[in-house]
Amino acid sequence: MSYLCIVKQKIIITGGMGYIGSHTAVELIESGFAVVIIDNLSNAREEVLDGIHSITGVRPVFEKLDLVEHEKTLAVFEKHKDAIGVIHFAALKAVGESVAKPGLYFKNNILSLVHVLECMERFQIPNLIFSSSCTVYGEPDKLPVTEETPTKKANSPYGATKQIGEEVIQAELHANSQLKAISLRYFNPVGAHNSAKIGELPLGVPNNLMPYITQTALGIREELSVFGADYNTKDGTAIRDYIHVVDLAKAHVSALDRLAHDTQEKNYEIYNIGTGKGYTVLEVIHAFERATGQSIQYKMVTRRAGDVEAVYANANLANEKLAWSAQESLETMCSSAYTWEKMYRGTEKSAT
Ligand code: UDP
Repeated sequence: MSYLCIVKQKIIITGGMGYIGSHTAVELIESGFAVVIIDNLSNAREEVLDGIHSITGVRPVFEKLDLVEHEKTLAVFEKHKDAIGVIHFAALKAVGESVAKPGLYFKNNILSLVHVLECMERFQIPNLIFSSSCTVYGEPDKLPVTEETPTKKANSPYGATKQIGEEVIQAELHANSQLKAISLRYFNPVGAHNSAKIGELPLGVPNNLMPYITQTALGIREELSVFGADYNTKDGTAIRDYIHVVDLAKAHVSALDRLAHDTQEKNYEIYNIGTGKGYTVLEVIHAFERATGQSIQYKMVTRRAGDVEAVYANANLANEKLAWSAQESLETMCSSAYTWEKMYRGTEKSAT
């Protein structure tokens, strides 16, 4: 009798305790990878590990580490130098905070990436997936946006860190001939894992639309403010491409597959990860009401500074090259977000 020992391929997920990172960890574990999470817990809780464990039956290795710390980062990567790839989510992401503290954002988001790239070169880890964002397109002249749509000057330091991040990777590819990279430009991730064991956990008052809606539905927030009713759209409110976070997580597995099997056409590829459909803020509110039976108290207020009128993806390239497409409807995004919020809050209705 012969015994087959299957060694799982190791993937490092920086920022793996966060919203998108934790959903991606689940999808990777379920696809047979061994996951190591690096996170400084600046915007995440350690209990996320319990959620991942409970869904997958596997507790990922966790390294509490701030990637800005050079020596410690080298030591942790050395420990995991058998990894075949890194998915780099770790970053600060609050647009408003980035305007108030630009230095913090550049230092944190750029230096972390530089350190990750240095470790990948030193320990010969070949495959990188980078979390980019549709913010790189700014207010596009033409919709939907393709990967060829020109990027615009970023309207926040946060957005600038995503643009610069893409450029840093591009430059590094000239210096490190072993490196292969894919940047995924995310549109608006919402929703939660259907187990409701992991989901979005904003600290304090949410900035983003969906957690504000779910908290309003539960009475934690009194009323949703709809930012801008005078946009040139069908109902005057702004349009975004909302994508279920599990669909987004699966795009990372597809991208990793492409890198690991060496099937990419260029050593650096960029993909839009969206559904290709744009919805207004009012459409999202009404979809939520239909999906959950909960009515949402809202009022129209002035536009939020820095918001664009409309952006949604042409995701054909990802559909074709990554053999990936978004599957979940806006209703499922809303109902899963609400189920998660209810599970997380229990019966408690006070603001945190
Ligand atoms: N939005 C809103 N009220 C809120 C939060 C967001 O009307 O409390 C709008 C926002 O102006 C934008 C859309 O919802 O048009 C999505 O905003 P979010 O902050 O979720 O994502 P963004 O597209 O800004 O990254």
